Amino acid sequence: MANVEVVKKSSFNFDPWVVIGKKSHILQSRCTQPLQCGLSDKENSPIYSTSLCDFCLFEKELKLPQLPEMTFASNCVRLEHDKGFGIEFNALDALKFVDSKNDVMKVAIAEAWQESRLDDSKIKDVVKPFDWTYGTHYKGTLFGNKEVYKITPTEERIDVEKLKVKSKILFYEDIILFEDELADNGTAQCSVKISALAASPDLERIMPDSFFILLRYFLRVDNLLVRIIDTRIYYEVGKNYLLREHMAKENKIKDLTVSSALLCNPQDLWDHLATASSEYDKIEF
Ligand SMILES: [Zn+2]
Repeated sequence: MANVEVVKKSSFNFDPWVVIGKKSHILQSRCTQPLQCGLSDKENSPIYSTSLCDFCLFEKELKLPQLPEMTFASNCVRLEHDKGFGIEFNALDALKFVDSKNDVMKVAIAEAWQESRLDDSKIKDVVKPFDWTYGTHYKGTLFGNKEVYKITPTEERIDVEKLKVKSKILFYEDIILFEDELADNGTAQCSVKISALAASPDLERIMPDSFFILLRYFLRVDNLLVRIIDTRIYYEVGKNYLLREHMAKENKIKDLTVSSALLCNPQDLWDHLATASSEYDKIEF
């Protein structure tokens, strides 16, 4: 094959889980194997879709008029359980949740124009009839044997304070799925971070006792609004379930009293934003 995929792979064994992180290059802007993709794009071809290049696969699977400027097709975080199931976070599945037909920002932008004398000439360049901010309520892709896990709503919450104190990080990856600068009007980015933690950093023999995954979509439309959509996954050794929290927060920038530096820092901005929606569930196995 002419186009050898360069993938940097890291993994961490966390009995009964294996955590895998993959990083690769930005998705090409055209087909990398026209001959093969041309053949496999026939419905009844035996190699249909499985052997498409990433570019053609994204074209086929997504109905978006355009992709984020930087789309990392091969990047992912994958969590595999030894019972034969798991959860993965990747760009293709994240982008499947983007509204391909409606400009969800339209109303907010029209209001902002009325309320302020915002220089609208620049932002007009970016406004298109789909969600050009690539907003996604993706919560990860469950895979494998559906018989071995079940998802139920829960009252239990991830103890974020506990995560902050006394934990030593044994494994950490920060992997970007996509990013777009909205034609210089801000940023839309989706990334996933994973850390495996040991609760007692003082012990001589350090054993991991929990892991935490943060899938974050962060949007800032300059002068207009900020939005964060988080999916958090937490596992503690000895438990037979993962906790999954999915939360969306947003504010109009004019309603916020934070520094402009904070508007570029989703981690610290999070605490200042109003909650728009939240969902808590347990994935038992
Ligand atoms: Zn192709």
